[in-house]
Amino acid sequence: MKKELSEEKAAELIQYSCFDSLSVDEIISGFSDEKGLSDFAPDPVLQMDPRDRSIVLFNSARAKRPHDNKTVFRSEVKEPTTVCPICEGNTTRIMDKAKLSSGFTFINKNLFPIFYPSAGGGLQEGVKTGNPFGIHFLQWTSSLHDCDWHNMDMDDLLIVITRLAVLEKKLLFCSDGIMPDSSRWNNQKQTFGFISIIKNYGKLVGGSLLHGHQQITFSNTISGQQYNNWRFFQKNHSCFSEHLMDNTPENLVIKDYESSILVVPYFMKRPYNCILIVKDVSRQFLSELNDGELLSICQAWADVTNMFFDIMPELGREPAFNILVHDGPGAGLYIEFLPYTQETGGYEQVGLWVCQADPASVAEYMRSKISKRQIRRLS
Ligand SMILES: [Zn+2]
Repeated sequence: MKKELSEEKAAELIQYSCFDSLSVDEIISGFSDEKGLSDFAPDPVLQMDPRDRSIVLFNSARAKRPHDNKTVFRSEVKEPTTVCPICEGNTTRIMDKAKLSSGFTFINKNLFPIFYPSAGGGLQEGVKTGNPFGIHFLQWTSSLHDCDWHNMDMDDLLIVITRLAVLEKKLLFCSDGIMPDSSRWNNQKQTFGFISIIKNYGKLVGGSLLHGHQQITFSNTISGQQYNNWRFFQKNHSCFSEHLMDNTPENLVIKDYESSILVVPYFMKRPYNCILIVKDVSRQFLSELNDGELLSICQAWADVTNMFFDIMPELGREPAFNILVHDGPGAGLYIEFLPYTQETGGYEQVGLWVCQADPASVAEYMRSKISKRQIRRLS
């Protein structure tokens, strides 16, 4: 039997049909009003490691998260054997839902958030206290349990990424008086607060549920990597995506997607790490991209994750990877794909990375894997 969140169960979870007509205040209220969410709220404190400016948040409740994520290789997937809380409708209320060719994609609240509205119910109060505050979303790529970026239709993925872009734009550009002004980190763009978009797949890298999803946080806190991108820009007077395009030799290019390009970074820390660069380096946010640029991201994201499901078992490892969307000041716009192909040892912890493969060989193998897949163009 097909495993999915049914339309009937989703109807019971609808809080808002879509973000488009909502104010940021209404979106935040949707978090404060969510039953049970405050039980798993993080501690309202933040610490920073002054050596490398890593931000540390504390939330002991996250240890209670449900897991359905036992080791499953793609070739072994037959009938689902575990209960998926998402397909069962055992999740938070939905704030945005969009129809796909089969099923739908939707965004709701993370029941185990790393950021939470301040105690007063809103966000502004936190500005006065200097404590971390914000909201934490989950985007479920599809209501169908087994559908995700690696196996979905491009038209559907374009809808998925467009919903992400709509949310990103609303939060960053319409939060005046709610979030601190983050414009000083930007070039001529008035934004408020900081967005961070990631995907975890596999229990080895933090993915607690198999049902495909992305995570989005919106907070008053700049992440260590966002700060590093900005610092890179201050020092080099060009964004990191531009630097990477200018410093990637031809033999490290995996595939050109016309408005974006997939490369193995010359500093590859772990085998098969790769980066997708949006070629127009004036772009900083998903909401600034046109449909052609968004489609090129979908195509590459699908290609790379599909490859990971092939390559990681070849290495004797279960598929597990992180995907990081780097945006904002100093980044340009680039997406980092980090498969868990090698453990992190002591030397890596002191900043000496020893990688068990060389970038050129990895790029050559990924080119051979990916070459049969066609680039899709907008009709
Ligand atoms: Zn499911």
